[in-house]
Amino acid sequence: MNPGARGAYSFDEILTKFRAEGRIAIVGASVAGLRAAEALREKGFNGSLTIVGDEPHEPYDRPPLSKQVLKGWVRADHTKLPRLRPVNADWKLGVAAVGLDRINHIVRLANGENVEYDRLLIATGTRARPWPNPAEGSLEGVFTVRTVEDAAGLAAALKARPKRVLIVGSGFVGSEIASVCRDLDLPVTVAERGRGPLMGALGGVISEIAAGMMRDAGVDLRTGVAVQNLSGDDTGHVRQAHLSDGTVIDVDVVVASLGSIRNVEWLEGAGLAAGQWGVGCDAGCRAFDINGVVTDHIFVAGDVARAPHVLYDYEFMCQEHWDNAVFGAQVAANNMINLEVGRVPHLPLPSFWSGQFGVNIKSVGVCSYGDQIVFTQGSPSQRRFAAAYGRRGRIVGAVTFNHGKWLPYYASLIEKSAPFPPPPPGYDRPANAEVMPARFPDPREPAGNPDVVLTGHDPTSRGAEFRPRA
Ligand SMILES: Cc1cc2nc3c(=O)[nH]c(=O)nc-3n(C[C@H](O)[C@H](O)[C@H](O)COP(=O)(O)OP(=O)(O)OC[C@H]3O[C@@H](n4cnc5c(N)ncnc54)[C@H](O)[C@@H]3O)c2cc1C
Repeated sequence: MNPGARGAYSFDEILTKFRAEGRIAIVGASVAGLRAAEALREKGFNGSLTIVGDEPHEPYDRPPLSKQVLKGWVRADHTKLPRLRPVNADWKLGVAAVGLDRINHIVRLANGENVEYDRLLIATGTRARPWPNPAEGSLEGVFTVRTVEDAAGLAAALKARPKRVLIVGSGFVGSEIASVCRDLDLPVTVAERGRGPLMGALGGVISEIAAGMMRDAGVDLRTGVAVQNLSGDDTGHVRQAHLSDGTVIDVDVVVASLGSIRNVEWLEGAGLAAGQWGVGCDAGCRAFDINGVVTDHIFVAGDVARAPHVLYDYEFMCQEHWDNAVFGAQVAANNMINLEVGRVPHLPLPSFWSGQFGVNIKSVGVCSYGDQIVFTQGSPSQRRFAAAYGRRGRIVGAVTFNHGKWLPYYASLIEKSAPFPPPPPGYDRPANAEVMPARFPDPREPAGNPDVVLTGHDPTSRGAEFRPRA
C-alpha cells in the first residue's frame, strides 16, 4: 500500500519532518548550549530555536578566566566562544528560566514570558559555591571565579598589587589562581581543609607532588586548616582571615574556590530526577523523571548532566569538564532530532587539562575511581611523568605532568579496560614502578570533591537525589 495515497507519511518522511521541524528550546547559553545549537543546525534542524541564558553575554569560554585573564594576557570580555556556524536562534539573554511545565511543554522565564517547546535541552551548568557567610562574602576584595565579571574584578584586584592574596580551597581552579599570583610575583597563601591540593581529583600521591610545586613556587600552602571567618576594615574591604588553627592572616584579596553548585533550582516541581548532583539522564542524554523513567523530549548536557558510564560499572557521574560539555551537547543535539535507531551514546572518556606552576597537567579516564596508582614513565621528582590508576586489576584513569603526548596510549588502554598495572611504552621507565595506594579521601571528608563526581549506588559514595513527589 502506498501511504502517500492515503494522505499519510512514510516512515522516512516522518523522520525527515521530525528532524527538520518543530520548536526546540535550549536553557543555558554557554559552551554546551551554543555547541548544541550549532550541531542542531548542522544536522538539518530548520525549526524554531530559542536559547535562554541568565547571563547578559553571548556564550564565552571559562577556562581562560582562571589563567590568561588573571595574568593580564586576555581581557575578560575577550573570551567569547568562536561561532562554528550561524545558528539562527531567538536568543533570550539576561533572563533566567524559573520553571518547567512538562505537561504543557513550557519553560517559564523570570520576566513572565513563556517559551513553548517540542524538545528541550537543559544546559544550565554550575555556579561557584559562594563564601558561606554572605556578609563576609560581600566584603570588597572577596571573589569567586566562574563568570566574566568575577574574572574581570579579580584581575583588576591583582593588578592593584595586593599585599597578600588568600585562596581558600586547592582544587584545579584554586591552584591555577595561586600559580598566576606567583607568576605576578604576588604573595599568596592557600588554605586547604583537606590533606593537600588536587586531592579529590588525583589522590594523595599526586597531591604531594602538587604541594611541592606550590611550595617551590613560593606559595604559603597550609593544609588541614579551615578559614573560619573573614573581617574587613571601616570601608568594608576584607583585611583579615581567621583560621581554625588560631592564626590570623592579613589579606587584601580572598578567592573562595570552594567548588560548584549545580543550577537545578528552576526545575523544582518539574518531576525530573534533578538534585544537588545534577539532572539524571541516560547515556543518550535523555533526562530521567523522578522515578527513573526516561523522558522522550527533554535532554541534558554539560556540567549539569549526570549519566551512567559503561566503563565505570554504570555509575552515574557528573563531569565538570569542557570536553564533556562540547561532546555531550553534540550527542544531545543528534538525539533530539533522531528516532531510536539514529541515536548515539555520549560515553566519552573523561579528560581534562590544567596549567599551573609551569606544569601542563592532563588526565584521561576517572582517576578518582581508582584505588591504586603506579608511575609508568618519566620522573616524579622532575615533575615530568605519566601515572596510571587501577581498580580491581584494570586501568581506569591516567594523569600526565608535562608528558601529555603519551595520553592517547593510556586512553586506548582505559577504553579496553586493560589490565592494571599497564605495560609502560618501551622507554623512559621511572626508577620506582611500584603499585601504591592512590590515597583518595573518603567522599564524605570535607574537601574531598573530585572534578568527576561519582554519584552512584555504592553505600560509601554520595547517594542519588531523588525526592519524593509532592
Ligand atoms: C575558572 C574556570 C576554569 C576552568 N578551566 C577548565 C579547564 O582548564 N579544563 C576543563 O576541561 N574545564 C575547565 N573548566 C570547566 C568548564 O568551563 C565547564 O566544564 C564548562 O563551562 C561547562 O559548560 P556548560 O555549558 O555545561 O555550563 P556553564 O559553562 O556553567 O554554563 C551554564 C550557563 O547556564 C546559565 N544558567 C544557569 N541557570 C540558568 C537558568 N535558570 N536560566 C537560564 N540560564 C541559566 C549559567 O548562568 C551559564 O551561563 C573551568 C571552569 C571555570 C569556572
